Amino acid sequence: MYLLSRDRGILIYIPPLMDEIILLRNKGVDINNDNELLKYANNQDLYIYYRNKLRYYEKIGVSYPGIREEQGVSTLEASLVDYLFYHSPNIVFEVTESCNMRCKYCVYGDLYKKEDRTNRQLRSSQMIAAIKQFIRGRSGQLSVGFYGGEPLLSFNAIKEVVNQFQREESSGLIKWRITTNATLLNDEVARFFIRHNFSVLISLDGDAECNAYRVYKDGRQTFNDVIYNIGRMRTLDPDFFQNNVRFNSVLHNKNSVKKYMTSSVRNLKLYHQYLN
Ligand code: SF4
Repeated sequence: MYLLSRDRGILIYIPPLMDEIILLRNKGVDINNDNELLKYANNQDLYIYYRNKLRYYEKIGVSYPGIREEQGVSTLEASLVDYLFYHSPNIVFEVTESCNMRCKYCVYGDLYKKEDRTNRQLRSSQMIAAIKQFIRGRSGQLSVGFYGGEPLLSFNAIKEVVNQFQREESSGLIKWRITTNATLLNDEVARFFIRHNFSVLISLDGDAECNAYRVYKDGRQTFNDVIYNIGRMRTLDPDFFQNNVRFNSVLHNKNSVKKYMTSSVRNLKLYHQYLN
């Protein structure tokens, strides 16, 4: 079962429990009434969770349950998949699988098998070809993201891609984004982000103590380097920093939202977008 929004170019897999809830609603059950919904639930917490998730999908416009009713998953047509794929408002490139860090909780860290990780990289020509395909005949904006591993290990490839689409960037057809650990964020990189109006998402778990799981390959702490680099970027362009730079934290047993809110890093006035 899938939910579909043609307008937004979104196709979302619906897990069986959410499908059950949709079917209940189709039979006339008031799923927004907890007492009524829970009469049908084997696992009450999961029913409430998936009902709330369904509400969220519908709130953002992904509410057209057309696939099950119209076609069934097994007959989903290639042309529809093609249409949705190339009309997606976002594309994210895993520019490289390499990373210069070994955060303890990450698949690159000690807790995971090393053989699962490779050093594959995307070439700029591959990314350029994909973007050309995505912008063909497009009127709405395409958001292009660079992700890793650590994408700044492939900074040259990113530059080549961005330089190739200057006309589309100027006209607003393409918007650039990157998620980075900020250890390689030197002045050249910062100026490049500023010049091309990147949205920059930096991973940081809080102050030095909260950030202790985020280490280099050799086990050294990264906190001081990251704080130095983001401080440099803020000095280069304070407005860009305020408007375009956000921070992303992983929650674990060395930090918490409460700790973050009371930590010294809060005085830096960083802008947290997500807390995972
Ligand atoms: S910086 Fe990101 S990709 Fe690299 S080890 Fe840490 S969490 Fe993993």
